[in-house]
Amino acid sequence: MVKIGVIGSCAVDLVVTSSKRPGAGETVLGESFKVVPGGKGANQAVAAARLGAEAVMIGRVGKDNFGEVILNNFRSNHISVSHVEPVTYCESGTAHIVLAEGDNSIVVVKGANDLVTPEYIEQKLDVIREMDMILIQQEIPEETVLYVSQICAEMNIPLLLNPAPARAVDPSVIEKAAYLTPNEHEAAIVFDGLSASEALRKYPNKLFITEGAQGVRYFDGQQEILVPAYKVEAVDTTGAGDTFNAAFAVALAEGKPIYESVRFANRAASLSVTKFGAQGGMPTREEVEGSL
Ligand code: ATP
Repeated sequence: MVKIGVIGSCAVDLVVTSSKRPGAGETVLGESFKVVPGGKGANQAVAAARLGAEAVMIGRVGKDNFGEVILNNFRSNHISVSHVEPVTYCESGTAHIVLAEGDNSIVVVKGANDLVTPEYIEQKLDVIREMDMILIQQEIPEETVLYVSQICAEMNIPLLLNPAPARAVDPSVIEKAAYLTPNEHEAAIVFDGLSASEALRKYPNKLFITEGAQGVRYFDGQQEILVPAYKVEAVDTTGAGDTFNAAFAVALAEGKPIYESVRFANRAASLSVTKFGAQGGMPTREEVEGSL
C-alpha cells in the first residue's frame, strides 16, 4: 500500500436548490438543502483512499458541528484524522452554494483552512517524512505551499502540486515540484506569457495539463502527447480534477510509468463524472481496474 500525504483544505458544502436565485435584499423559498463534505484536499484524500492508498490527511477544521461532519467522513473512508486538528478559535471551512436557474452561485469561507500555516506543517515533519508522495492544492496559504515544496525537496519526497484554484505559483515551487497538474485555465495563469505548448516543452514529464473531456496533455522530452479521456455519459463533472490528481499520485507512487499513470487517472476521473457529487462519484480500485 503506498502512502499518500495530502496537505490541503477540508470543508463542507452547504447546498441549496431553488427555482429562483434571490436578488439583493430579496428572500425566496428554496426546495432542498444538503450538507456535503468537500474541499479539494479532503476530496483528493478520499479519492486516494478509495483507490487503495493509505491516505493521510494533514489539515485543520473548526471545533464545530461541520468539523465533526468532516472528521466522520474521513473516518468512514478509512482516512486517519490524527493530523486534522480541530481548532477552537476558528470555524470550519464552508462553501455556500445556491443551485438555481440552471447555474450555481458560490461563496467560500476559508475558515480553518487558512490556519494550515508553515508553522503547523512544521509540527508534522515526522509524518511527512514517511510518505511516498505528497499531494497539495491551493486552498491553503501560498506560503505553506512554498514551505512544503522546500521540505519535500530536502526530504526527497515527490511533490504533486495541483495548482487549483488558479493563482500565480512561486517559480521555486514550480522548480521543486515533481509534478504539476493545472487545467487549461490554471495553466494560463501559472505560466502567464507562455502558450500551453511552450509551457509543456519547458517542463517535460512534469507538467500535465488536464483538458476535461479531451484528456491530458504533456511533453515526454521528444513529443507532445495527448492521453485521451475515456468517453462516458457525464452526469456531474464536479470533482473530476480531484479524482484525476489522487489517482495520478497513487499510480506514480506505485511506480507505474507516466503514460500508464495518466491513463489510470483518466479512467478514474471519467468514472467519477458518471455519478453525482464530488466524492459521491469517486471510484474504488476494483472499479477502475475492472474497466481499464
Ligand atoms: P473540476 O474542477 O471539474 O473537478 P478540472 O477543471 O480540475 O475539474 P478537468 O480538466 O475538467 O479538471 O478534468 C480532469 C480530468 O477528468 C480530465 O483530464 C479527464 O480525465 C476527466 N474528465 C473530465 N471531464 C470528463 C468528461 N466529460 N468525460 C470523461 N472524462 C472527463
